[in-house]
Amino acid sequence: MEDRRTVVIVGGVAGGASAAARLRRLSDSMDIIILERSGYVSFANCGLPYHLSSTIADRGDLLLQTPESLRERFRLDVRVRNEVKSINLEEQTLFVKNLNTGHEYTQRYDALILSPGAAPIVPPIDGAQRGLVLRDIEDLDRMVSELLTARSVVVVGGGFIGLEAAENLKEAGLDVTLVELGDQLLAPLDPEMAKPLERELRRHGVNVELGHSVTAIDQGSARLDDGRVVAADVVVFAIGVRPDGRLAADAGLAIGPRAGIVVDARQRTSDPHVWAVGDAVEKVDMPDGSPTLTPLANIANRQGRRAADDIAGRASKVLASQGTAIVKVFGLNAATTGWNEKRLRAAGREFLAIHTHPNDHAAYYPGATTLAIKMLIDPVDGSILGAQAVGADGVDKRIDVIATAMRAGLNAPDLIDLELAYAPPFGSAKDPINQLGYIAENRLSGLSDSADWSEVHELTEQGWQVLDVRTMEEFAEGSIPGATNVPVDEMRAHLEELRDQRWIVYCMVGQRAHVAARLLQEHGIKAKNLDGGWSTWISAPLSARTLQPTR
Ligand SMILES: Cc1cc2nc3c(=O)[nH]c(=O)nc-3n(C[C@H](O)[C@H](O)[C@H](O)COP(=O)(O)OP(=O)(O)OC[C@H]3O[C@@H](n4cnc5c(N)ncnc54)[C@H](O)[C@@H]3O)c2cc1C
Repeated sequence: MEDRRTVVIVGGVAGGASAAARLRRLSDSMDIIILERSGYVSFANCGLPYHLSSTIADRGDLLLQTPESLRERFRLDVRVRNEVKSINLEEQTLFVKNLNTGHEYTQRYDALILSPGAAPIVPPIDGAQRGLVLRDIEDLDRMVSELLTARSVVVVGGGFIGLEAAENLKEAGLDVTLVELGDQLLAPLDPEMAKPLERELRRHGVNVELGHSVTAIDQGSARLDDGRVVAADVVVFAIGVRPDGRLAADAGLAIGPRAGIVVDARQRTSDPHVWAVGDAVEKVDMPDGSPTLTPLANIANRQGRRAADDIAGRASKVLASQGTAIVKVFGLNAATTGWNEKRLRAAGREFLAIHTHPNDHAAYYPGATTLAIKMLIDPVDGSILGAQAVGADGVDKRIDVIATAMRAGLNAPDLIDLELAYAPPFGSAKDPINQLGYIAENRLSGLSDSADWSEVHELTEQGWQVLDVRTMEEFAEGSIPGATNVPVDEMRAHLEELRDQRWIVYCMVGQRAHVAARLLQEHGIKAKNLDGGWSTWISAPLSARTLQPTR
């Protein structure tokens, strides 16, 4: 059926380009115009950091489409270097400036899709104009050109983009200092899960400054809040992004509490002729339905498709956002989905935390590495509230399975019955995901009691004793202060000595301690398994670990 409407899309990258392509596949008669301020469309912003190290050596590989290729395949009218200055909702027009020629014009629309993205935050400090950000191809070109003569770089911000920038700049041979105001890297992770990333950066020679900020930038240096001056031929700001809602706000479209454009599940804004998608809009947070910002490519693409569907008259709905994300930091990967413990505590939600440290694949098959996984579940109904994983291998698979389980509404014990692909090079017959289900079931049913690393101090003050059930050799290499060592295989011989006490039992990861704690419980002795064992304890923040390890 002929549809002669003119659809104009502001922003031609993740959300905008997805919407345009989907619209064309749904209707060959609409006029579809993309207005893009930068000189490029449909480029791979997620790939930008990897060009800094030449991991993606050819800059051209980042340009997924060009205006010409989009015209040829999809008959799209793509106008790069065309900036939309304002929207007139009543007249359904845009005021546009061609940045190449200076020509200004009015563009009419029947339907408008806004996908202007999010702008990197630049801190209001002396010399901030010397700092660089990484959002688009022009930013990348600027950075590459400045790096030609640089030897030292300060990256401000230890989030996803900061970590990727630090890694790739180090790989490019520069002296890199990463400055993060918080006391941990990668805030979406809980502190004990983020610790391995800090170690990995330091192991590769990145100077990590936690709990500090950059207060001024001079030629060749950056000043920290404690007065120290760090060499910095280049400073990169990666302290977060804010939704680019200016056009929408100026036009009078509804803006939400998180400063993003308000949309419904079909991506409709407060005006019936305007849709908005991507980083600029507020999403629905899956755990509690509250407004959230999830500046991630997957959801921008999904929303672009859904907005196109709605404009074309197809019923469709964008589901809530889980915030599933992943990052590589040298030899480690870290991923997350749903809420973390910090967020749950802030919201006053009850939860059970499960820490495990399984092998990514069968230990007897060469190359097995240890994963750290944390899953947070509702203590009553067992629903999965969030998960985090860190390790060299298999992180993406486990977080993606948990994210899928959450979306499908599976509860933690249901993970037991997920039949996952297994052969020794890939996993274990009892996959880490199944193990999480076993632990959850034991905990929820009351079969096993546990203690979190953050509770150890309080419990010992209440008179609980700490029991290390690892081998004497493992115990000698470091243990929780005051712990008694009885290896799990010798416990039956020592039951009488252990009677009359309450025990926090731990081993390396929690598995042997589970056996030991069950044995004690079977003999009427109170026991809690230290969740995640020594491996989790040793990664917990020193400040929170009021009991210090012996070495
Ligand atoms: C360095 C980097 C790495 C990233 N890595 C990942 C990753 O690994 N995984 C992940 O999920 N996400 C990643 N992201 C985030 C992801 O790229 C964004 O979530 C996604 O691109 C958002 O899509 P969008 O369409 O909302 O905005 P964008 O893709 O940013 O596109 C917005 C476009 O709108 C244009 N525009 C804005 N205002 C106007 C105007 N007035 N007139 C005309 N044009 C305008 C801008 O020039 C811009 O090109 C990364 C982002 C960056 C910058």
